[in-house]
Amino acid sequence: MGEYNIALDSRDDEANVSFVSHAHTDHIAGLKKNRKALASEITKDIVESRSNLNMELIEEPECVELLNAGHMLGSRQLFVQNDLYGYSVLYSGDYQMDEPVLAEKLETRKADVLIVDSTYPYPEVKFDDKSEVIDSIQFYARKKTERGHVVFGAYTVGRAQELVKILNEAGMVPAVDEKIAMVNEVYKKHGARLEYLPLGEPESNPIVIVGQSKLEATRDAIRAKSVKRVYTAVASGWSKIFRFNTDVQFNLSDHADFPQALEYINACSPKIVFTFGSSSRLFAKHLAMRGYDARPLTNTSEVNALMLNYI
Ligand SMILES: [Zn+2]
Repeated sequence: MGEYNIALDSRDDEANVSFVSHAHTDHIAGLKKNRKALASEITKDIVESRSNLNMELIEEPECVELLNAGHMLGSRQLFVQNDLYGYSVLYSGDYQMDEPVLAEKLETRKADVLIVDSTYPYPEVKFDDKSEVIDSIQFYARKKTERGHVVFGAYTVGRAQELVKILNEAGMVPAVDEKIAMVNEVYKKHGARLEYLPLGEPESNPIVIVGQSKLEATRDAIRAKSVKRVYTAVASGWSKIFRFNTDVQFNLSDHADFPQALEYINACSPKIVFTFGSSSRLFAKHLAMRGYDARPLTNTSEVNALMLNYI
């Protein structure tokens, strides 16, 4: 785009600007090469609070628009209407059609080319109704903390803040580990209302949220200090596919499942869909079987070549 070569959530040696759709670590590789970035302010704040990376946000070029992606707070899609090419492109990193727990609701836009994430490429995977999942989490937490402790393992960025909000809305204030607390503060700076405590003695912290990798150690530490039973829990979209090693798993996701992906693609009504991510082939195959012109994105020069068939 004119003076800019924009890398999409990835590292590309020919790029001089990184589009960072959101602050999850698998989307920020481009920043190691380019400090110049297209992203939301909150994405910049979260990335900088968790790493030694510095982002310099550039002003959106005229042909570019950042649209809400509904995934985590600050997540955006990149929409480009470039007269030079004669077609429009919408790129989405992680996104969801469902009402997010703690993010700006997704905006759709009609585009000729859609480049879309393929985290859940399986047609048979359908997420549970979100409001029922939230009710279940609140019910479980309330019930189990009457006589015991509950420890949630969660992604430090995004899921942990959603759980804090869900528990707050049921009148509970969870204790969280330091890394989660740091992200909570960035969320609060950007308007989220989150109430939480630092990790302390088990008696004053009946409900705890820690990073996924600390779940078992935290459970054992509480067990060593309390005679009450300690329950472990996880809230993840992957609970539809995996059995986690916890007492209970809730199907809470901030991604699109396959039905949501179809809904999203239909709303954008692209001529071609390019899928990317580790399941891009499978996702493209299932889309093609349903009549979409869909293929995994291997090289961006392919986009130009293929669009010549349409314009
Ligand atoms: Zn993500």
